[in-house]
Amino acid sequence: MPNGGSDCCGTCWFNRANGGERGHADFKIPSHCEIRQLEISNPYYTYCANHPHHRPNRDPIPIGPVYVVGGMGPREVWQPSPDTEEIRQHLLHIVREPKEHSDAYPFYAEPPHKKAIQQMVDFGDERVVEALEELAQRDEVQKARANILSLIEEVRQKLAERRA
Ligand code: SF4
Repeated sequence: MPNGGSDCCGTCWFNRANGGERGHADFKIPSHCEIRQLEISNPYYTYCANHPHHRPNRDPIPIGPVYVVGGMGPREVWQPSPDTEEIRQHLLHIVREPKEHSDAYPFYAEPPHKKAIQQMVDFGDERVVEALEELAQRDEVQKARANILSLIEEVRQKLAERRA
């Protein structure tokens, strides 16, 4: 697999060429992402966080951008995330409930909660801070609280830089 990643559009159930199943795209059918309405010209070199390796429960709400890779280089943003209130609410849910959204495929890509935080920052949506503050208050994150508080500061700073 290119870039070592099998989490590409070529194997994704949201690629029309896979007929709704995980698998290997039928090259006779043009690859098309059904959840982002994108023509995918190079399915084995194109990636996103909604791939079934990352979202095994079939999550059709876009998380972050679509990436491409050329040669052995890093993944680079090809298409930004679409932006709707439903997408933002979904990202906020992932931020508040990181356990519920853990990723069983930790290669080449960040876990969904990191992607969700980054995407909310990219949207300039300050509600991400509230969602993280809510998470930091929970009893079950006691051991990770210091890290979450420092993450909140980092996110605040990024949002301020974005506003400047
Ligand atoms: S862009 Fe994402 S959701 Fe769409 S086909 Fe590719 S990996 Fe699947």
